[in-house]
Parts: sequence; C-alpha cells; structure tokens
Amino acid sequence: MGQTKHTGPIKLPKGIQPKFWVSPIPFGLGKVKPKHIRDTMKVVWENKDNLSYAKNIITKGVCDGCALGVSGLYDQTLTGPHLCTTRLNVLRLNTMPAIKEEILHSDIDELRKLSSTELRKLGRIPYPLIRRAGERKFSRISWDEAMDIIAGKMKKLDPKQYAFYLTSRGITNETYYVAAKVARFLGTNHLDNASRICHSPSKTALNRSLGVGASTCNYKDWIGTDVLLFWGSVASNSSPVSTKYMLAAKKKGTKIIVINPYREPAMDKYWIPSVPESALFGTKIADDFYQINIGGDIAFMHGIMKHWFEMEEKEYGSAINHEFVQAHVNGYEELKAKVQEQSWDAIVQSSGVAKERIIELSELLAKSKNAVFAWALGLTMHSFATDNISQVANLALLRGFIGRKNNGLMPFRGHSSVQGTGEMGADPFVLPGGGWDKKNVERIEKLWGFELPKWQGDIVGVSLENAMLPDDHERKLKLYYLSGGNFLETMPNPKFVEKALANLDIRIHQDIILNTSTLVDAKEAVIVLPAKTRYEQEGGGTSTSTERMVYFSPEIEGNKNRIKEARAEWKIYIDLAKRVKPDTAHLVDFKDAQAIREEIAKANPNYDGIQYLKKQGDVFQWGGAWLCEDGICPTPDGKGNLIPVDIPSLDKPDGTFYITTRRGKQFNSMVFKEVDPFNDAERYDVLINPEDAKRLNILDGEGIVVYNEHGTFQGKARYAEITKGNIGLHFPEGNVLIPQGIYDGPSGIPQYSVAAKVEKAERYLAEKDTKYLEKRIDDLEDTPA
Ligand code: SF4
Repeated sequence: MGQTKHTGPIKLPKGIQPKFWVSPIPFGLGKVKPKHIRDTMKVVWENKDNLSYAKNIITKGVCDGCALGVSGLYDQTLTGPHLCTTRLNVLRLNTMPAIKEEILHSDIDELRKLSSTELRKLGRIPYPLIRRAGERKFSRISWDEAMDIIAGKMKKLDPKQYAFYLTSRGITNETYYVAAKVARFLGTNHLDNASRICHSPSKTALNRSLGVGASTCNYKDWIGTDVLLFWGSVASNSSPVSTKYMLAAKKKGTKIIVINPYREPAMDKYWIPSVPESALFGTKIADDFYQINIGGDIAFMHGIMKHWFEMEEKEYGSAINHEFVQAHVNGYEELKAKVQEQSWDAIVQSSGVAKERIIELSELLAKSKNAVFAWALGLTMHSFATDNISQVANLALLRGFIGRKNNGLMPFRGHSSVQGTGEMGADPFVLPGGGWDKKNVERIEKLWGFELPKWQGDIVGVSLENAMLPDDHERKLKLYYLSGGNFLETMPNPKFVEKALANLDIRIHQDIILNTSTLVDAKEAVIVLPAKTRYEQEGGGTSTSTERMVYFSPEIEGNKNRIKEARAEWKIYIDLAKRVKPDTAHLVDFKDAQAIREEIAKANPNYDGIQYLKKQGDVFQWGGAWLCEDGICPTPDGKGNLIPVDIPSLDKPDGTFYITTRRGKQFNSMVFKEVDPFNDAERYDVLINPEDAKRLNILDGEGIVVYNEHGTFQGKARYAEITKGNIGLHFPEGNVLIPQGIYDGPSGIPQYSVAAKVEKAERYLAEKDTKYLEKRIDDLEDTPA
C-alpha cells in the first residue's frame, strides 16, 4: 500500500473563465459576502503590538487554523501563496499578552458575565491559578504547588476515577503522544480528544470498510476528477483555501456536487481573495445542490445504488465496476440484496429528494471514471453516523473510486492537527499504530516498558455522565484533566454538562485562555495551568493534516508578549507522571521533542519518517499518495468490505422539525463573528424554509421558539433555502435542544440532530404557563432523537 509518492504542487490552471463567475459586477457589490480586505486590516491592527512575531508565525509556522494544514505560506496542492482569514483570526491567540491581573483576580461572578469570546479577548493565562471550593476568586500558585495538588489527588484515586481530554487547539503530535503514554502509565484509559467528537465515525467506518482510518487521497485529487462530491460539509468555511482547489478543479472540468439540507451560501458562491479573477467576480462553486433531509443520507445513497442495479439489469457493466468489485471487494451479493429490498417510496420519503433527482446523480456517477467523496459533520453527527460513512464507502467500492489518482474518500477534518490525535493513541479505543488487539498491546508494552491498563476507557460524554455517579462507585469520575476544550459550549445539554463539571472534586484546565467552562465551580478545586502555543514549544512540533501530511512547525522566537510561566504541554504531562509515580517515571521521560519524534516513529510505523523532520518546511505524507492503492486494502484479505445498512428510523412525529446545528464564522466553539458573512444570519437566527414558516404564520425575522423535551430555544426566524421539515441553528447556541447520552454505537460520537417543535414566539409565550410548562411533550417523549 502507498507506493506512489505525492508529486507536489501544481499551478492553478490558467485562463479567465467567465462561465464560473458569480457576477460581472466586481467585488460582489450588493451581495452578502465576507469582506476579506477589511478583515485582514482588522487582524493587522489587533496584532500591532507584536507584528513581527505575528509575521514570523505566518511565514514560518504550520497553520493552526484548520486541518488542511500549510507550512508557512505554501502548500502541497497549488503553487502560489496560501493564507486565509481563519488563520488570521486565530493569530491573536498566539501573539496576545497576559490577562491583566486586576481582571484575572476579580470576583468569579464578574468573570462569569463574560462570554467565551470576551474571555478570549482578555488575553492569555499568565501563571498557574487555583480556585478552591467556596473561594470567589482565582489565586496565583506556583507550578510546584499546582502539580503537587493534582498528583496528590491522583495518588488517592483509583485510575478509573480520573480522565484526560485533549482538544485540537493547535496541539502537536508530540503532546498527543506523551499525553496518551502518560495516561496509560498512570493507569487510566479514560482519555479522549476533540477529533473523536467530530470524526470518529469516519475512522470507524473506513476501518471496517477499507481497513484504513484516514483520507485515502489528496486535495490534488480534486483537480481533474470527474465529480467532487461534498456530503454535509461546508469545506469553503472550515478550510477557506480549499475553494482555490475547487476553482482549479472546475477549470479542469470537475463537476462539484453538494449534498446538504441547507443550500450553504459559501458552497454556492465564493470570492477567493488570492485569485484575482475570483476576488473580482466571484466563483460559482457548486454545479448542483441536492437538498436532503437531515438524516436522509443513507436512504439517498440507497437510491443511487438501487438505480445502479436497475441499470445493470438492462446492461451489465453500465453502472458497477465489476472488474474492480471482483478483484477487490467482499459482500457484493449481500449489499445488492439489501439495496434492492428498499422501496423507492421509503428512499424518497427518508431522503426528501425526488426519485428523478436521485437517478440524475446516480447516472452521473455511473458515467464517471473518477470521483472524490468528501464529507464532514453533516454525516458524522448522528446516532447512525458510522453507517452513513460505510454507505459512502459502499458507493466508492462499487465504482472503484479508490486507490488511484483523482479518486478517493476524504473525511474533511476541521481543526489543525486533529488527524494525529488517534494516530498518537490519544483515544480510548486506540494505541499508537493500531488498536487494542493482543499483538498491538504487546508491541506497545514492549516499547513503553510498562503494562497497559486493560479495561475499556470511556469516551468524553460517558466520562461526564460518570461525574454524576454516586461517590463510592468504582467509575465515579472525580478528577478531569482537560487540555483546552469547552464542554459547556461543545457538548449536548449544557445544563447537564455544567452540573457534571461542578460535581468533580478537581478539574484541571491546561490552556492558553479562559473559557466559560473554566469558571464553573468544583467540589475541591479548579486548577488552571498556562500552556505554551505550538509555536513556543522547545524543539518545535509536528501536526498532521487531513491528507496525512506530517508537517514540522519550528519554535518561533521573538514573542514580545511571551508568557514567562507557560510550559510546553508535553513537559507538563511528564512532570505529572514524575510526581504521581516517581520511581518509574523515567519510562515516560523524554529529554526533548526530537526524542519524542524518534519514539513515535517506532510506536506508529506509519510515522516512520517523522524523526527526520527538523526544520521549517519539512514534511512527509504517511501512507503515500493513496491508501488502498490499486484497490488493495490493508484488511486481512486485502479486500474492501461492502456493508449493508438499513435506513434509520428518524422517528420525527408529524408537525415536528428535524434540527441540525451549524457553524458560522467560528473555530469550533470560538465565535469570531456574530453575523455569518455568507448569509447575514445572526447567532440566534433559526434557518427555516419559507413554506414551513408561512404554514405556522411565522414571518421572516419574527421571534420564534424551538422546543423539545430537552430544552427551549428562543430566536428569530430567518427564511432560508433549507429542506422543508428541517431547521438550522447555530452551534453551540442550539445545543440546549440536544440530549446527552445518545451516541453512535460503533464510534461513540454524540447525536447532534433531534426533533423539535417550532412556534411563533408570541403564541408560545402567551400560552406557555398553561400549555407547555406543566405538560409533557408526549409526542416527543419517546423520540430516540
Ligand atoms: S485554509 Fe486552513 S490551513 Fe489554509 S490558511 Fe486557512 S486555516 Fe490555515
């Protein structure tokens, strides 16, 4: 597998092509669109006190803005400069000074008045802090005191009673690896990460379908493929420079298809700042949109395949790539039987898309020699997410869209460096270089020199639930060690999350900034530890992109606002290990970052090569250009597996809406703009189909209430091109409606889509005492969400 190497960047195909323009009127005048130049000037102004360091981060560091990953200003896909406002927006996190003391030590209720955006703008955490039970303010403590308190508590607990969590805020592979090793050294497998919340179903499904857990192809494969299909992904928003690759693809004749309940404006039209033609006249991105029901993807894909089998009955080989299937695929007959048993009525009803339209796409794919399928949270944030993605793999395997140029499956990841978390073992289901099978456990035990805890660790959602267990329960979570993350604004059911966070004895927030979760009480103490950014870590660090490129980001000198007490995160984990188990801590000690990379190369054989990354611009791609090259998968028999899946029952009672949460201009829960520059929607706007709204007598802009048995959301209706029966809310604001405790079985990702009722605010408020508060919402009570 992976013999062919990535061939490096190519030039954006030349030639002005007015057929792709949004409008001949320059700069999108009169249209709702981002103001890139104005936003860039704002960033320059924000960073004015540390401009030369900011410039060095951008030109020398590996971008911490998204998982596309770029080292300095040049990428592996297209020649020419690579920069976007997402990167500029997170820049201040790396350049800002410390929080002013008088603010940092104010009454906790004063700090609680601030939103996470306001807390972020206060500046960086300057030194270790503690707030003990009953105390109104954070007080300063030394590193020694802080670490001794944490270690002292850990020594008293059963390792099943503490857990670690790592977010994706620029954390390097080195930190993920050391955290994963130290957690196991201390005896716990409760170790989870932010990437698993977003893309664990992708990994689980790709593993069972193809034996791989990452994108099988490159961004370069977009350029010139016949069809580039985005499934529940707003790639243009999460990785803005990807629009440049989309334009290059269009210029090479690629058709771009978007499947999403909402006609996302950023996937419809985009003004790409670095391409003069596009900056002036805009680019029409999607050639076609399929507006599907939330949760209707499996049925939709059944429809595509059902028509393929119908085509096959008329002409053998007209839709299925039999040569590929016979040589490289298992389970053909079982999948065919499953697909054929689905009725068109059920397919159309669940997907919300007309049969003729499904057939149109089915035939387009049947005629295409190449295709790349990319997807994101629209497919992964469901209780049936793993099946969603296996169904995408089914499509690719039947057509042989895998393991060669211009073909592949790409889980479109969001944050910088998330790809590396699981690969470094920072996840309850994996170890570096593999899973928990006997062979891999023995291999890692031999390498690490200590015995691993063998019990199954819990995912983050379950860990939070465990915080609410009775005190004497063996798994009652008493200490949570968090590297970044803001559960209050990322996990479903914020009220429950707050209770769970407050019910821990000790909570540790190792971070750069404060957020709303940091301010929640704890039964004994909240400890805050100042972390270094990725650009400050001694010996540099590496970060793995969506396309499996492992980039080296050097330590960058010259931060005028240096936080003297901040420490490299991997060093903090080692310090902790030394205090909890001093006698054997040498087993997890590393003298420098290079020593970590050398061990990673042994622990995860895919990463053999990381040890040679030493200076700015150094990069290698693990697995080569294509995983499953030539159709040969790293499964026991070398074949891909077709997986028959059922259409999930959505249990959406009549008159209710399926809701989904969407990101605006933000970086996970970090909101950068209160108004989405692509559709002018404010954060409490509810995207609703005008026909649905009119049926409920709701006017555009009018106050509405969305409610279910989990919570109530008050916002404003915004008429939008969203499939009837579906509504869109911003994340995290809409999380009050999302239940906790519902996960995708195989991967453990929480379900973020549920049914809810919608009413005019006026009517809801007038009748709320009599009609809603005392009454069970019977028809929603049994909805399994
Ligand atoms: S697209 Fe992503 S990797 Fe590229 S500059 Fe923007 S945030 Fe950074």
